[in-house]
Amino acid sequence: MAIPVTFTLDFEDLRTSPLQESRIEYATSVILDRLAELDIRGTIFCVAEIAEREPALMRRMTDLGHEIAVHGLQHTPIDLLGEERFREQTIRAKELLEDLSGQEVLGYRAPQFSVVPETAWAIDVLAEVGFTYSSSILPVATLMYGWPGTPMTPFRWPQGLVEIPCPVVPFLGVSIPYLGGAYMRVLPSMVRRRGVRLAPEGSVLWTYCHPWEFDPDEPFYVYEHGGWLVSRIGWINRGGMLRRVVASLRDGAGPPLREVVAGLGELPVFDTEDLSERRAPLQGRLRRRAEV
Ligand SMILES: [Zn+2]
Repeated sequence: MAIPVTFTLDFEDLRTSPLQESRIEYATSVILDRLAELDIRGTIFCVAEIAEREPALMRRMTDLGHEIAVHGLQHTPIDLLGEERFREQTIRAKELLEDLSGQEVLGYRAPQFSVVPETAWAIDVLAEVGFTYSSSILPVATLMYGWPGTPMTPFRWPQGLVEIPCPVVPFLGVSIPYLGGAYMRVLPSMVRRRGVRLAPEGSVLWTYCHPWEFDPDEPFYVYEHGGWLVSRIGWINRGGMLRRVVASLRDGAGPPLREVVAGLGELPVFDTEDLSERRAPLQGRLRRRAEV
């Protein structure tokens, strides 16, 4: 039987200036409405300062039964913050989102999957400030972030925190994510179907998408850290994203990640010692330039 897929959204806004029209309310409603029709609840990882500006939208998310989790205070990758600012901002984000949602916030996802060997200290912080789980690891090398060699299925960090890694699939000789972002918009649907079919036993599968991906009519602009090409990729096939996300949930949607985590049995403990230096050689240079 196919492993169910949990819907997750990274609630963020990439506008580079407050003078640009805000479309987040519209774009988020597109996906929330569709999920409500399908009676699907998922996990919404929120950039806390954006959530603070959208109280009505936050109320709607919680009224619909979605789990609220943290996607940073301001969507800054962890390596650009350093440990002290990361701690301060993460505590603030958790408190803000708990106030706004009325929920205890248990989950964390790093902006741009920026938990990598050089930011492994973030795991101590996440455990210390009271998160139960993280879904911040890309277990393969990519041009931006990624921590190759980490397990493909859920595991526990020595600090006790549960990690739910990003689902990946072998494709043309490399392993790539397939249930979200540009990968989901650009690759043929057969790649997604193959990924679900080949998912290792014990996998937890989740989509990751962003409000702007449901907004094909948003006027083009160049992302702050992205450059023209990366920004163009951000606009490819936005018109097909809703259909693709819904298709990935049709064969059985999983519950919000906090419920999935609560139902996991004994998990292997992963010690970071043996893998501390592995990453793709180009990452350091490229990761600061792009958000895909
Ligand atoms: Zn993000």
